[in-house]
Amino acid sequence: MSGKPGEEGGSPPREGTPRVARAWKPQGTRVRVGQVELGGPGFVVMAGPCAVEGMEQTEHTASAVAAAGAHILRGGVFKPRTSPYSFQGMGEPGLRVLAEAARKVGLPIVSEVMESTQIPLMEDSVDVLQVGARNMQNFPLLRALGKTRKPVLLKRGLAATFQEWLLAAEYVLDGGNEQVILCERGIRTFETATRNTLDLAAVALAKQRTHLPVIVDPSHATGEPDLIQPMALAAAAAGADGLIIEVHPRPEQALCDGQQALTPERFQHLMRRLPGVLAAVDRHLWRPEFPAHVVGAR
Ligand code: PEP
Ligand code: MN
Repeated sequence: MSGKPGEEGGSPPREGTPRVARAWKPQGTRVRVGQVELGGPGFVVMAGPCAVEGMEQTEHTASAVAAAGAHILRGGVFKPRTSPYSFQGMGEPGLRVLAEAARKVGLPIVSEVMESTQIPLMEDSVDVLQVGARNMQNFPLLRALGKTRKPVLLKRGLAATFQEWLLAAEYVLDGGNEQVILCERGIRTFETATRNTLDLAAVALAKQRTHLPVIVDPSHATGEPDLIQPMALAAAAAGADGLIIEVHPRPEQALCDGQQALTPERFQHLMRRLPGVLAAVDRHLWRPEFPAHVVGAR
């Protein structure tokens, strides 16, 4: 996993070069989540509800996204909401619901951790710990995640510059955890026609400047189901390593972010269109690699 500085030729990085810098690992970091790997040739799709609301909703969504070809199940149980009166997530009981739904379909889980006291609780059942946009500069949380050995999905802050985003990742790496996935989820600009403004150039730039896998969240970036597919395909074309997408079986009844949720049918349609775009940039949807002799034996 740990490449030597300056590997693959070129001069070694200068002292003081941030740990996230590409120069430390020109071959790139690969982050393993269960069987799945991010940062390699395979493109990884994470999908599921914004919030875990109950067993039926979570199982329904999990089986739909798994059947459509998603690789990782998402679902929030601790929800950072703008209003204190909005649904705050199911909390700990939601973790059990999520774990059970994921087990049934055989997918690993990504879920948001809001404070460091939740880490021990989540480490048992969650495969990737998500840091939400609102917590991108919660430095004690980032330091605590640096001490874990779980992959961390670091969302870009609502109004964070590219540099601030990378330095937030630096906190986790500095603590000794290199398993960080960067996630562009749109930033707040003067534009109000979309929920946020998807900064796709930052995705291509992060791929050039860092060695970390980079994924895109077109759900929060646009806030609009009709824009999710085009932006997901654009992210794939721009060199992202994957996507995280909100899916709900009944968006109009969702307790959180229903206005931007894809129905299972729309998600399936997106999954059918991704391979064509990925092929154009010499990528493919992630699939288990078979040893050459197994492939040859067919
Ligand atoms: C989420 O993933 O549901 C979420 C709250 O995302 P963000 O932190 O990007 O707003
Ligand atoms: Mn959401």
